Amino acid sequence: MLSAIAKSDPQVYELIVAEKLRQENCIRLIPSENYVSQAVMDATGSCFTNKYAEGYPGKRYYEGQQFTDQAENLAIERAKKVFSADGANVQPHSGSFANMAAYCALAAPGDTIMGLALPHGGHLTHGWKVSYTGKFFKSVQYELDTATGRLDYNKIADLAKQHKPKILISGSSAYPRAIDFKAFEDIAKSVGAFHVSDMAHIAGLIAGGVHMSPIPYSDVVTTTTHKSLRGPRGGMILFKEQHAAAVNKAVFPGLQGGPHIHTISALAVCMGEALTPAFKTYAAQIVANAKRLAAKLMEYGFNLVSGGTDNHLMLIDLRNKNLSGKPFAKALDRAHLECNYNSVPGDTAGPFNPSGLRLGTPATTTRGMKEPQMELIAAWIKTVAENIDNEAAIDKVGKEVMALCKQFPIKESFV
Ligand SMILES: *Cc1c(COP(=O)(O)O)cnc(C)c1O
Repeated sequence: MLSAIAKSDPQVYELIVAEKLRQENCIRLIPSENYVSQAVMDATGSCFTNKYAEGYPGKRYYEGQQFTDQAENLAIERAKKVFSADGANVQPHSGSFANMAAYCALAAPGDTIMGLALPHGGHLTHGWKVSYTGKFFKSVQYELDTATGRLDYNKIADLAKQHKPKILISGSSAYPRAIDFKAFEDIAKSVGAFHVSDMAHIAGLIAGGVHMSPIPYSDVVTTTTHKSLRGPRGGMILFKEQHAAAVNKAVFPGLQGGPHIHTISALAVCMGEALTPAFKTYAAQIVANAKRLAAKLMEYGFNLVSGGTDNHLMLIDLRNKNLSGKPFAKALDRAHLECNYNSVPGDTAGPFNPSGLRLGTPATTTRGMKEPQMELIAAWIKTVAENIDNEAAIDKVGKEVMALCKQFPIKESFV
């Protein structure tokens, strides 16, 4: 496929080749990122990109849907099976659109929604003020307990009683602990709210059976498909049968036009992979790797928010280290250790140079790295922290990282 780009547009071709090499030669620790299989990659680049398919299988507005209908139905049926859900909408172009569609399905503009605040690990689309979810709806935000770094279900319940939201949102982009979706459901029920769970980060762990599923405890579940789930970039909504019509109408014609059938067919491939025993092993190893990385970092004197991790990610609180997030993340990147700076609960440093660093294990685990490699990574992170102004030392770590990357090449297939 790339040979056509090489011939017709060498400029873009070179960028793709350079990015591929970059992804090969660094240890990617951003918890929302992964490497997809070649099968998923091939499907996203298929001729389905040429086809318009507004509507849903069996109810389209254009002819020529002999194969689009089958592709979308395959993705839906497999997604329902992976997550034991009543229904699925596989059309959202991203996690953000999936959330907007869920809110539009269950609430009207001006209604109150309640989600986790962005600086405490919530997503922009959980009602943060710069997001349209925070403009179209009246937004109330709950926060973590800054002493423990954990969700405080009693405080969330009190806030819900006070504000009576139409929708209570659970889920996070930076929470290192297990989420009790049943506790959220109980709170939502007690105030007559709908419960929307956003499992974007942990969908792969849920598919692999190593995190509580939100499906039995939620009206609607939203997710991205490209994070720990290891599929193409996109979004998906799972729902209880009684919400099927509202959710489907909210996605199309409510928010979107034509679905991206090339992405949807790649999602079908991803869901096929998620149904294999190998995916269960993968999900369990993600968590085992995160636990080992966290334990080693703590041994080296790094403070982790909440004192560890239950899932695929951890947040280092750098406030005891005389380091701040951005320069540290940049130094790590020079050493081929890719991660992102992040706010920590109670951070006063502001969003452009916050006091935390967010690390996760889905991508390294996809490459086949296990606990011994996590120990190497922790030691490298320590070395960079101690040599933040020493380019020779950072360079030396970078070479060691590249040598490890050579031992764990990007795989084409996981099944
Ligand atoms: C990543 C993420 C999203 C948004 O996904 P996009 O595809 O980037 O729009 C939504 N919710 C949560 C919790 C996320 O982590």
